[in-house]
Amino acid sequence: MSRGGQGYRLSPTDKPPRIGHLSGSSRRRNARSLRSNPIYLAIASLWPVMSLEIIYYPHPTLRYVSKPIKRVDAGLRKIADEMLDLMYEARGVGLAANQVDLPLRLFVANPTGEKGSGEEFVVVNPEVSRPKGSEVGEEGCLSLPGLTGDVIRPKSIRISAYDLKGNPIETTLEGFLARVFLHEIDHLDGTLFFDRMGEHAAQELEAGIDELETDFRSKQATGSIPPDDQLVARLAEWTNKYC
Ligand SMILES: [Zn+2]
Repeated sequence: MSRGGQGYRLSPTDKPPRIGHLSGSSRRRNARSLRSNPIYLAIASLWPVMSLEIIYYPHPTLRYVSKPIKRVDAGLRKIADEMLDLMYEARGVGLAANQVDLPLRLFVANPTGEKGSGEEFVVVNPEVSRPKGSEVGEEGCLSLPGLTGDVIRPKSIRISAYDLKGNPIETTLEGFLARVFLHEIDHLDGTLFFDRMGEHAAQELEAGIDELETDFRSKQATGSIPPDDQLVARLAEWTNKYC
């Protein structure tokens, strides 16, 4: 989730270049030259290297109902670390596995959106109970860059989940943190924030949603993104491995 209207709406493409850091494209170029290095290839065969990226609407994985995770290994811990890095880089406060094209019931969050401040969460197989009250709050989403809208959510909820060590998490959340968790749990069920908006409010997002749709379909038409059936077919290998 990205914050609505509080200076956290930067999409990865609007980000100013950070001094002392490689830009995304130079990092990708370095990764490519690294991948052709024979020593790297030998190591990569022992430790499969994957690089996660945030996917955008209407990628079909955003509509996939993710399966509960049954096993946690070093690979999954690495995925959670990468998801946190991606979330901070994109100035988000939450990121669900569906948003990095993984069909797993896992999300990461930090309500401050700042690495090293606030509380960082890695949440596995979350379940929500005892919703109380309701309040309106503005939300945005890293998979729908630039779009925000008001969503009604419960004021407080009970969460049952696990951390990556298998320790149970049982807690009551309120306010903004409850909203972040609910937005991310919705992702695990293939639900997007505009699905929960009133018809009139959702209509205001229509032009932006259409633009994302056109951009995604044109990338599929030129072959830079595979067709939907291929994108969905590759999810099975992840569910076979972890679910
Ligand atoms: Zn989102």
